[in-house]
Amino acid sequence: MEKRPDTLPKHGFIDRDRLMSYAEASAPGEAELDAILAHALELHGLGIEEVARLIRVSDSGQRARILDAAMQVKEAIYGRRMVFFAPLYIGNTCSNNCLYCGFRRDNKDLVRAVLGKAEIEAETRTLLKEGHKRLLMLSGESATTPLDYFLDAIDTVYAVREGQDHVRRINVEIAPLSVADFARLKATNIGTYVCFQETYDQELYAVYHPSGPKRDYLNRLYVMDRAMEGGIEDVGIGALFGLGDWRFEVLSMFEHARHLEETFGCGPHTVSVPRLQPAPGSAIANHVPSPLSDEDFMLLVATIRIAMPYTGIILSTRESEDMRNALFRYGVSQISAGSRTNPGAYAQEAEKKSGESGSQFALGDHRDLDEVVSSLIDSGHVPSFCTGCYRKGRVGQDFMDLAKPGLIKEFCLPNGLFTFQEYLLDHASTSTRAKGQVLLDRLASEIERPEVRERAQTALAEIKAGGRDIYF
Ligand code: SAM
Ligand code: SF4
Repeated sequence: MEKRPDTLPKHGFIDRDRLMSYAEASAPGEAELDAILAHALELHGLGIEEVARLIRVSDSGQRARILDAAMQVKEAIYGRRMVFFAPLYIGNTCSNNCLYCGFRRDNKDLVRAVLGKAEIEAETRTLLKEGHKRLLMLSGESATTPLDYFLDAIDTVYAVREGQDHVRRINVEIAPLSVADFARLKATNIGTYVCFQETYDQELYAVYHPSGPKRDYLNRLYVMDRAMEGGIEDVGIGALFGLGDWRFEVLSMFEHARHLEETFGCGPHTVSVPRLQPAPGSAIANHVPSPLSDEDFMLLVATIRIAMPYTGIILSTRESEDMRNALFRYGVSQISAGSRTNPGAYAQEAEKKSGESGSQFALGDHRDLDEVVSSLIDSGHVPSFCTGCYRKGRVGQDFMDLAKPGLIKEFCLPNGLFTFQEYLLDHASTSTRAKGQVLLDRLASEIERPEVRERAQTALAEIKAGGRDIYF
């Protein structure tokens, strides 16, 4: 049965008073912190009381210990892989009026665009040429970009061939749908459905969303229930940090994950941590109502990493290069690079035709994909374009079952190395290729289990001989 807002409790599964009481918890003493971090290092996640205590820590020594624990958890589960994706905005028309967003209906100065089939193909080709394999498709919510248009756009992107390359996974971030429409979306073979609650504070939500369908808080709060009922196994939740009390948002995201786990036996596949950025025509975005300091942001990411160890953490190019480099260490596992938020910008920029008009918000990291890959290599990370799990059907609960005993490393590291090898051969600059190959060869030779190492070496040799799209 489809969950409808009028049949739900007024606040859904977010009990504001209870969460606020947690949000007012005190920081742990040394012995308590020892116990929480020891628990975290067992890799089973944390309880909400423990999360509440950690996000209260202000002592710099204690914070350093939390960051260090996050680093250990990340290393144990994900190794040094960092998965890349690129956002693909296909339309910026919107009937909502989210006060923080450049696309909102009342921003009359924004240059509006809805991409046609040829333009979507051109965007896809440009991203494939850069080396991307995994896209996140987005649009505003409007009658000019109905679901049928979006479904056709997905088919268009999957059908594009650029040499041997094609898009291997499309994740989707669009306005909430009904169960039946989620089933249609699923049928196009998408990966993760992503949607941010923006703020879990119902009163603030009403302030920031004054009109349009998005005004309905409960419809959005239960969107992942409908997505899962519609057959989508991997869902991605998030909050837009800067709108409300960040501690309340973290606890609410945690509660959201728990709700999904209790209801469907599987929590979210990813958590996103966008911070509010300046946006054209948005007073709110240009004067952040509840700013979150860089130090608090690091604590937040580290806490999510140890509290939900098997959930991917996504960081976009909203953040600066320095901030991203720091957060890669403390738990982020998926990143975008070379992003544009104005529809059509990738192909236009490749032809040197475009500026930033039509953008949703300002970006903090302007490096192109090769520059980000190069800096990851310098810090010993493995840039990965892998889509293997999803294409082998290791999704939802299956993915979690596999991830939990740490087995994921056995598939993900080799698969990540294969896509890294493809990138180095097909897309990297000369200097990135040279140093990347040294790192790749070393990591391949260090794979612990001899049979996995041997299989990986065979696959890498095949890729060097021209084979593509190999995965376990
Ligand atoms: N229109 C759909 C929606 O609102 O769910 C699709 C996603 S919208 C294109 C992508 C996300 O951008 C929003 O959910 C919001 O969190 C984020 N966003 C909007 N304005 C922003 C800003 N000024 N800074 C950072 N992120 C912003
Ligand atoms: Fe529209 Fe989404 Fe922007 Fe809100 S956040 S104005 S729904 S594009």
